[in-house]
Amino acid sequence: MHSDSEKNAVERGGFDPHTVFEQILGGDLPAEFVFRDDLVAAFMDIQPINPGHVLVVPIKRAATLAELPPATGERMFSIGQQVAAALRASTLRCEGVNLFLADGIRAGQTVFHMHLHVFPRFEGDGFQWKLPDRYYTPPGRDVLVDIGSEIKRHMP
Ligand code: 5GP
Repeated sequence: MHSDSEKNAVERGGFDPHTVFEQILGGDLPAEFVFRDDLVAAFMDIQPINPGHVLVVPIKRAATLAELPPATGERMFSIGQQVAAALRASTLRCEGVNLFLADGIRAGQTVFHMHLHVFPRFEGDGFQWKLPDRYYTPPGRDVLVDIGSEIKRHMP
């Protein structure tokens, strides 16, 4: 029997709510762990953008950002910071670090168990964001004010 959140996740995109990350955390699939406590775990991404690409995940599955308890999100970020520091201290090529989280299919999420990507960057690594044409024509201040107040209206 699936919980409501699991059913919602399936409805959102037809993805199986029981993800590979659950299997990894349960010990049914292998992964190279770099950290684990009661709240979060961090292991190597199977298809790294650059060598050293780590995923920080909650132990208890939350399909999306909305389902992630804030305390767990805080812990994920703090472990992400520690992984970033470890990457910089390591012998891996690391001239910078990106933290990235995809919330939803349209944001590029493919595994519906929240995860924070932490990966090293270096000159000429070939990774780049593809930006839309509108990026090169920034909006006026009035547009930022309007959009900012719309967002503010929904802040707690
Ligand atoms: P997303 O696209 O959802 O932000 O990222 C999913 C990430 O999970 C990808 O970077 C992908 O390489 C990684 N991934 C998918 N399946 C596995 C797996 O079985 N093991 C590990 N370690 N990583 C996986």
